Amino acid sequence: MKTLKEAIEKCKELSFDLNFTEAKKWKSKDNKRVLIGYMPIYFPREIVHASNGLAVGILGTGDRKRIIKGDAYYQSYICRIPRGIIELALDKHFESFDGFVFPSICDVIRNLSGMFQLLGVGTFVSYLDYPQNFNPDIGGEFYKNELKQITSNISKINNSELDAEKLNLAISLFNKNRKLINSIYDVRQEFPWRMTAEELYYIIRAGMVIPVEEHNVILEQVYELIQEDIGHPMDKIRVVVSGSFCEQAPVSLIKTIELAGCYVVDDDFLIGSRWIEGDVEEDTNDPLDALVNAFLTKSTFSSSLYDVYNPKEKRLIDLYKKRNADGIIFAAASFCDPALLDRPVLQNACDKDNIRYISFKYSENTGQFKNIKEQVGAFADSIKLWDDELIEN
Ligand code: SF4
Repeated sequence: MKTLKEAIEKCKELSFDLNFTEAKKWKSKDNKRVLIGYMPIYFPREIVHASNGLAVGILGTGDRKRIIKGDAYYQSYICRIPRGIIELALDKHFESFDGFVFPSICDVIRNLSGMFQLLGVGTFVSYLDYPQNFNPDIGGEFYKNELKQITSNISKINNSELDAEKLNLAISLFNKNRKLINSIYDVRQEFPWRMTAEELYYIIRAGMVIPVEEHNVILEQVYELIQEDIGHPMDKIRVVVSGSFCEQAPVSLIKTIELAGCYVVDDDFLIGSRWIEGDVEEDTNDPLDALVNAFLTKSTFSSSLYDVYNPKEKRLIDLYKKRNADGIIFAAASFCDPALLDRPVLQNACDKDNIRYISFKYSENTGQFKNIKEQVGAFADSIKLWDDELIEN
């Protein structure tokens, strides 16, 4: 890929391939390889890489598939992502997947893992409980055992052995991956017109369905290409989007926010790719411990994580300040309990700091954005017209 446009097109194609063609192609080259599907948000993909596997992100169907059977599995008043995932399973999109990991985000995901077990999809289905206690001897030990259970399930399929050398290699590859993604976000913070939020979304999402080595090559190219002075700055405000960490916002919604007068300078759309802030320690004798410590001490904030000693409202405001944003857009999936229950806490913190925000809900297959465009447009205009700092500049 020589141009940014080519890289974006390639990633766009990969991102929404509900048949996971590239991942299946990768597996078909060696009968010891395994594919492990994981649900949002975060899962330490390093352990799958070190077990001769590819961890494949499953983010729902977006607006690319009609849900018929999935609706029969869930009541009407919950989010849409689990229905889409069940539909994919029933329509055999996960053929040749070996196992599935469901991180403990909420009850909906917990129930989805039970349904996968009942349906007999894959050789194993693991429900990954995140620790609620951040003491390494308690929560750390618990989490380490959870990860060992997953690698033991993989080992029963392909006889892989999780040794320190392989896991250290995987850690260095994913450290590089996170570093490159963060560098791209940093360039966009300064020059958001060089690549749209929609384009960035494709670039990151593609990394959830291809080997990390290949994704790193793409990220390096993209990082190089956006060093060039491309595009023109426009009269837009800068916003952080928060609350879209699990069921993904439709791409057209991301586009609408930018078209309505905003640059999205940070978000939590695919936050699992940037979950660990900084590096996981490399080249240690016990790399599994390094992964556990990174989770306990370097996790980002999210409504899906218990964090009583490190409040997310403060961390959201720190992010807003770090990105030099003008406002926050709270965009969450309809019926998403974790995001919507946190919203008043986050908004109160914004009120106290005099930070402007707007809020709305979406569904991954929402198709009408007129109302949202008007709401975001009015929000952007009000900040441009009445924000003292922006007027002075
Ligand atoms: S969108 Fe929210 S409620 Fe639905 S599965 Fe994800 S975290 Fe749970």
